[in-house]
Amino acid sequence: MVHLIDGKNLAQKIQLQIKEETAALKAKGITPGLAVILVGDDAASQIYVRNKEKACQEVGFLSKIYRLATDAQEEEVLALIEQLNNETTIHGILVQLPLPKQLNESKITNAISPKKDVDGFLAENMGALLIGQQAFEPCTPQGCLRLIKETGIPIAGKKAVVVGRSNIVGKPVAIMLLKENATVTICHSKTSHLKEELLNADIIVAAVGQAHMITGDMIKEGAIVIDVGTNRLENGKLVGDVDQASLGDKECYLTPVPGGVGPMTIAMLMNNTLESTKRHL
Ligand code: NDP
Repeated sequence: MVHLIDGKNLAQKIQLQIKEETAALKAKGITPGLAVILVGDDAASQIYVRNKEKACQEVGFLSKIYRLATDAQEEEVLALIEQLNNETTIHGILVQLPLPKQLNESKITNAISPKKDVDGFLAENMGALLIGQQAFEPCTPQGCLRLIKETGIPIAGKKAVVVGRSNIVGKPVAIMLLKENATVTICHSKTSHLKEELLNADIIVAAVGQAHMITGDMIKEGAIVIDVGTNRLENGKLVGDVDQASLGDKECYLTPVPGGVGPMTIAMLMNNTLESTKRHL
């Protein structure tokens, strides 16, 4: 049978621990603070930002949302980031992507202090992750690893296949699996025999963004499948990259969409912000 790994429940448990640690910090007069910059009125971004704000409130963080107009100029955004880099009540800064066209995404995200880069997207943090130094691990990959560990099955020695090689999911999750001593293969749009690669995998991380592209016949018995994909169907339904129905009663582990990686990404953002606060002490 398919064992669903409940990301919503795990995220709640983690956020409860963070809430307890935050209460202890607050008793000493320290409140973790997260600043989110949202430029424009992209509907999906508004929801993501609201969810992050809600999570901050739940764990007891200070949450500051900076909403800038769609036609905001680069200087305005850069000046705000500079101000937040120097603001002692703020321990984490993130810029909600995507940004409107007139703004240079890498110039803006690179302006964030590496010490407050709780998304873990900056070259300093990615490089540190790659060479095994202390880094803010990006939230979605960190969530994937926690979900795999939730099965209780050791990662060391397993064959892991990551589908997707983006800087925010595929590459960092592959590095993190390698760090855990998995044997890692990264697949992408030019991979010749995806099905054969997947059929060898004890662990699959699907991060493509194509509804139901991975089907039951591509997954071996006993595999752990982490479905990062979030795809909106025409009928409005949210589905992953994995076609759960096609798994039938195959013995395997799977993260549902929604309720798998999504809530864990936010819990890991809270985790990184708490970590940053402790490092700033
Ligand atoms: P990108 O579009 O940046 O990357 C997609 C990757 O998939 C690319 O590396 C691409 O290969 C690869 N790919 C495309 N087609 C195929 C194919 N047919 N076979 C194998 N690989 C293929 O996406 P992201 O990494 O940003 O996101 C991936 C998915 O995860 C999206 O659905 C996104 O919404 C979701 N997501 C969910 C999060 C969450 O919190 N739940 C957080 C972040 C993302 P190539 O490099 O060759 O083009």
